[in-house]
Order: sequence, then structure tokens, then C-alpha cells
Amino acid sequence: MAQYTVGHPQRLAEMAARAAAVPGLHLAGNAYEGIGIPDCIRMGRRAAEKIVAER
Ligand SMILES: Cc1cc2nc3c(=O)[nH]c(=O)nc-3n(C[C@H](O)[C@H](O)[C@H](O)COP(=O)(O)OP(=O)(O)OC[C@H]3O[C@@H](n4cnc5c(N)ncnc54)[C@H](O)[C@@H]3O)c2cc1C
Repeated sequence: MAQYTVGHPQRLAEMAARAAAVPGLHLAGNAYEGIGIPDCIRMGRRAAEKIVAER
């Protein structure tokens, strides 16, 4: 399980910006915005919705 350290929100913002520059790349999982299973489901759903919207 990910253990977030100081500066995590800033790293998240940087990763999101970089990922947005790569078509088709989406990030989801316990390393990002919450380690619980509900968090992972939420991130996975959000990524799936973006993928569908891009098609
Ligand atoms: C012992 C334990 C108990 C927990 N209990 C709870 C709980 O009660 N409630 C709760 O909400 N959360 C709980 N958690 C946390 C939660 O289970 C995890 O944070 C969550 O499942 C992580 O989901 P994920 O999709 O990010 O990663 P994972 O579920 O680890 O999925 C990553 C997947 O990627 C695959 N993979 C890895 N590398 C590669 C590769 N190179 N190529 C292809 N596939 C690859 C792995 O095989 C794995 O299937 C628990 C975690 C642990 C370890």
C-alpha cells in the first residue's frame, strides 16, 4: 500500500499535468488519491469515464 509523504499533493498535480499531455494515458490506483478500495474504485471509474469520453 502506498504511504504518502510530505509534498504528495504537489506531486499529484505534476503527475496529472504530465499524464494529460499523453493521449490515452490515465492514472488510477492506491498511489494517487486514497489507498482504500472505495478510493481505488472511484479513481478507476473516473479513468474509465474519461476513456469512454475520448472515444
Ligand atoms: C493486507 C491488506 C488489507 C487491506 N484491507 C483493506 C480494507 O479492508 N479496506 C480497504 O478499503 N482497503 C484495504 N486495503 C487496501 C486496498 O486493498 C488497496 O489499496 C487497493 O486494493 C489497491 O488497489 P490498486 O488497484 O491500486 O492496486 P492492486 O490491487 O495492488 O492492483 C495492482 C495490479 O497490478 C498488477 N501488476 C503489477 N505490476 C504489473 C505489471 N508490471 N504488469 C501487469 N500487471 C501488474 C498486480 O498484479 C495487481 O493485480 C488493504 C490492503 C492490504 C495489503
